[in-house]
Amino acid sequence: MNEKPPTSGSLFLNEDADKPPLPERGDLRRRLRRAMERRASSMRERMSSISRESVKAFLRRNLFVLFTIAAVALGVILGFALRPHNLSLREIKYFAFPGELLMRMLQMLVLPLIVSSLVTGISALDSKASSKMGMRAVVYYMVTTLTAVFIGIVMVMIIRPGKGSRDSPMTSGNIEPVQAADAFLDLIRNMFPPNLVEACFKQYKTVYKKIVHTRNVTVALNLTDSLNVTESNLGLNLSRVLHTIQETVEETVPVSGASGGVNALGLVVFSMCFGLVIGNMKQQGQALRDFFDCLNEAIMRLVAIIIWYAPVGILFLIAGKIVEMKDLAQVGGQLGMYTVTVIVGLLIHGLFVLPLLYFLVTRKNPYSFIGGLLQALITALGTSSSSATLPITFRCLEENNHVDKRVTRFVLPVGATINMDGTALYEAVAAIFIAQVNNMDLNFGQILTISITATAASIGAAGIPQAGLVTMVIVLTSVGLPTDDITLIIAVDWFLDRLRTTTNVLGDSLGAGIVEHLSRGELQSQDAELGNSVIEENEKPYQLICQENDSLKHRNSETTM
Ligand code: ASP
Repeated sequence: MNEKPPTSGSLFLNEDADKPPLPERGDLRRRLRRAMERRASSMRERMSSISRESVKAFLRRNLFVLFTIAAVALGVILGFALRPHNLSLREIKYFAFPGELLMRMLQMLVLPLIVSSLVTGISALDSKASSKMGMRAVVYYMVTTLTAVFIGIVMVMIIRPGKGSRDSPMTSGNIEPVQAADAFLDLIRNMFPPNLVEACFKQYKTVYKKIVHTRNVTVALNLTDSLNVTESNLGLNLSRVLHTIQETVEETVPVSGASGGVNALGLVVFSMCFGLVIGNMKQQGQALRDFFDCLNEAIMRLVAIIIWYAPVGILFLIAGKIVEMKDLAQVGGQLGMYTVTVIVGLLIHGLFVLPLLYFLVTRKNPYSFIGGLLQALITALGTSSSSATLPITFRCLEENNHVDKRVTRFVLPVGATINMDGTALYEAVAAIFIAQVNNMDLNFGQILTISITATAASIGAAGIPQAGLVTMVIVLTSVGLPTDDITLIIAVDWFLDRLRTTTNVLGDSLGAGIVEHLSRGELQSQDAELGNSVIEENEKPYQLICQENDSLKHRNSETTM
């Protein structure tokens, strides 16, 4: 064995010999200063690059929102700048053309979006999970709509905008009357369209027809009077002889009619049932699930393109409306107070009640959630249609707020069709305002009727501009108020419509956040099932992907150890 003898002490000697010689004191100080300077400059560089990058990232993230806010401001300025030029109606129509194009583009996407998102959303969940989620959504819709109606009633009772002598209406319009019972039946009829193709462009609507017909009427003739004799004279009972005669009567009959526009309610009901069925078909339904999933993805990509045009469209929609509107100075007195009442009610509901509900359920900051929705809210303000805003609402919730797609696909189309808090609030305020204008005191029963019918009318209203004005007739007829008085509020309806549509979209979106939070248990257990193939890899919630990556890393490290 060729072992080296241990050399005690030599090791240390050798080490010392290898070390560089110790620097002088002054040298050390200089080096230290240089190192510190280098460090400080690299810190400075890093700080400046961080702030530059974060500003860039912020701008990139919020580019659309910033563009859209700028578009609203520009639209208002342009609108007011053009008002003194007194453009003719034709010129205004041409001027608002780019806005009209945006509406058309968004509406183009609504139909395939509603169908594909509902079918994929529901088929991705098992029937137990979807029924639970559905129940939560319906409870949320009912609670928030009734709260909105309550706030509206309280506000209109406190402010009493209709008190005093009646102002003359500023404009007159033509509102077709409809009986409350027929309106309810129409709602149910529209849920079951007999022809799906027709449902894409037409809705059932009761119209009234005057029909003249003859009917047999039995009348009792009093012969004793006509013959001027008494029964006792004749010894007969002739006092009542029954006689059948034919009478011509005119009757107003409800008959089937139609109104233009997508029958969203019918398509929602059909798509939900269809989604449920193909979800239960397991492997057999896979082809259809893939088809609708792919369709949904393609529509969302179209939304990503159209969104670039949205600021331009919104600019012209707003400017066009401002140029077109009547002189604001005329909106004073009762109508002005009515407008203020609706605005205050909507602000209380949208800025305090709904965020509070979101906070109580999720314990998250509702205002940062609302921040992610700005683009959708501004689009609602510009288009005054929650259906047309639907594509943008989807994008905001999924991209900015990272709400699970299974929830948005399920909850948003239903919400945009039936959940309208702003509309319900406005209908209750408007009905009581009209009662106040007519000096009619409403009792508790009538106010309760208004609450119920306003809720139903908001469910029945389509997500299109000024649909609430039409369904208002149901509320008015239910308590015997004159339907012609709707003309009193037409002048400001275009403006209030925008605000209530924004509230409607806000309610739907916060609802999606709340339902997602409440359904996280079902969603996670669904994720855990590996057989769930409808939700693609890139669609999985972020946490799930992280969990999977972590477990993969863990497994890899175990094998390498
Ligand atoms: N324009 C509203 C919406 O689309 C409906 C309404 O008229 O109240 O949500």
